[in-house]
Amino acid sequence: MTNKTTVLIVEDEDAIAHFISTVLTANGYRTINATNGAEAISLISSHCPDLILLDLGLPDMDGLEVLRKTREWSGIPILVVSARGEEQQKVEALDLGADDYITKPFGSSELMARIRAAIRHGIKMEMGEDLPDGKFTRGDLAVDFKKRIVTVDGKDVHLTQNEFKIVTLICKHVGQVLTYSYILNQVWGQFAQNDRQILRVNMANIRRKIEKNPAEPKYILTEVGVGYRMPDED
Ligand code: CA
Repeated sequence: MTNKTTVLIVEDEDAIAHFISTVLTANGYRTINATNGAEAISLISSHCPDLILLDLGLPDMDGLEVLRKTREWSGIPILVVSARGEEQQKVEALDLGADDYITKPFGSSELMARIRAAIRHGIKMEMGEDLPDGKFTRGDLAVDFKKRIVTVDGKDVHLTQNEFKIVTLICKHVGQVLTYSYILNQVWGQFAQNDRQILRVNMANIRRKIEKNPAEPKYILTEVGVGYRMPDED
């Protein structure tokens, strides 16, 4: 009971902070609260929470500033809480080292799924895990990392090398959003940084090969204006 996971909630709106706190407490987490950026920064260094839920719109400073300052010395998982339409800030937050984001308004199951994924990711990073070994399966989809093949219902879907790299990257971060620039950088290197079209074309081909209905994908979802995510299976 003494070893509860501690989550710092940085949120200036009482109703939202209260909602998050109630959900987390009911799920066995310990919560601490900050209502502005300065308080958040001081609590992060004094309490070393296991996860930070960070609202971007704070009364005293930009939430991105809290993120930047924290990342100077800590790899604590940070889940950004943003309002609708803040796509640019979300992308910036992810590029500054946030682990994921959740958009208001959100329900308790979405919140818990994101928190669990971010904590899992934080543990993996600490243990220095790299590419997954062996196999990844999800529904009819199976990725064999050693043989470098992807099958659906047991049949090889014949991905190209880059398509395979994209699928591997996304499987490795199940439950987390990956930004366009992150994927481009990992697959094509820094020179493809802003060429989203090449990624869109590859994703369309991947979906045609792995999804039953490419227009309504269930394995790899689009996060409009941000990137792609394989949803968590919770
Ligand atoms: Ca706010």
